[in-house]
Amino acid sequence: MNTNAHDRALQLIAQARVEGLPESDVNWLRTHLEDCEFCAGHARQTDRALGLLRTAAIPLPDGLASRTQFRVRLRAQELREREPKRRALWLACAVSWAFGIVSAPYIWHLFQWFGERTGVPKLVWELGFGLWWTIPAVFFVVVVLMEKMRQGSESDWMRQSR
Ligand SMILES: [Zn+2]
Repeated sequence: MNTNAHDRALQLIAQARVEGLPESDVNWLRTHLEDCEFCAGHARQTDRALGLLRTAAIPLPDGLASRTQFRVRLRAQELREREPKRRALWLACAVSWAFGIVSAPYIWHLFQWFGERTGVPKLVWELGFGLWWTIPAVFFVVVVLMEKMRQGSESDWMRQSR
């Protein structure tokens, strides 16, 4: 038997496991394997390896494992990114609030001085001071609203993933 016959047999053994063989090739291979111990051994080894692969594979529906992993990873990443941001937001809010309280007398004097220098009616610069004072409050309300909105979208996410 020549080398080409063995090569052809080995190729057909692989091809049979992947895409199947035409009837004529199946017959030729069967005849060759009956006569050739080397190629018959290779065929047995191939079957054993494929069998091991099949039993090692976890029987899950296609894509389920990777989809779940992807979702869990995404969620973990989302939480990691969000946590420091939220803390920073509250910190900025608190600082803004504290600054508003501490600076109130100075700001009052500043507005007063500005009003006296420019001749703007008292009511106007008092109103200006009032608006200045509301900046931390507005900031606070915006932060609270953003928290509420995010919690809403979060529970949407929980519903979708169920
Ligand atoms: Zn052979």
